[in-house]
Amino acid sequence: MRKLKTLIFSDLDGTLLDHYTYQSKAADKTLEQLKNADIPVILNTSKTFAELEIIHQALNLNTPFIIENGAAIYIPINTFNTQPADTVVIDNYWVKSFSLPRHYWLNLLAEHTDEFSRDYQSFSTLSASALCKITGLNLDETERAKKRQFAEPLHWLGDDSTKKAFIDRLIYLGANVVQGGRFIHIGDFCDKGQALIWLTERYREHFDNLSIFTIALGDGENDIAMLEAADIAVQVRSPVHDFPTLYRQYKTTQTQLFGPEGWAEAIQKLLANQLLSPSINSGENHG
Ligand SMILES: [Mg+2]
Repeated sequence: MRKLKTLIFSDLDGTLLDHYTYQSKAADKTLEQLKNADIPVILNTSKTFAELEIIHQALNLNTPFIIENGAAIYIPINTFNTQPADTVVIDNYWVKSFSLPRHYWLNLLAEHTDEFSRDYQSFSTLSASALCKITGLNLDETERAKKRQFAEPLHWLGDDSTKKAFIDRLIYLGANVVQGGRFIHIGDFCDKGQALIWLTERYREHFDNLSIFTIALGDGENDIAMLEAADIAVQVRSPVHDFPTLYRQYKTTQTQLFGPEGWAEAIQKLLANQLLSPSINSGENHG
């Protein structure tokens, strides 16, 4: 038997946090159980560092986390014995970045998309109060959401054919353009799956006597790469959209319940099936 180290990667909005209330209450007991079992819950979200710092405190987590849709990983210093290669120290974290900084994309927009400037508002030019109206967040939350370091979200005002021309231009200029629920995100080619793979490798290096086993939970389109990359994928049911389509079918489940209720439902089932148990047969391939 070889010992197993399980890592849980989780989306926030609509997954660990309720789509409407942004609360995790239904999953809090399960989070506590995982903490006691020394199973790290690694948040993997489109949110910013400023937003994550607050949420991490509220959830009482001291684990690495992934921000801005895989743009960067923040690893609390001393998570591993040695600082992983290709990371920099920022405050109390080792930081791995997968993206050019936000100002690169802002310059690109300013220098090459002048004729579209009346067709959109960007996070950097929108006031916090204007952004509150679009997002439904309160003023403090909006200030934290505005502190983006990587991709730039745009609020499109123009028509669809102009939007297509605008997106084509940005793709030609080398940007990755992701259509979100409320915003168009202009940034680099990174995603939640690439970040999961990189961080899992660091755990493998650190715990080289253990089998590292990954579980990912998410509800949205931007979770697909993360769900495809994990050993077990859990699609959490959303009250506002269908399950996004995955290629994988093996070790893939869909919850009955929504958001954090579904999150807890799935983790409790895995605990009951001993999929989070401390040892596995070494002969099995757990990726
Ligand atoms: Mg989500």
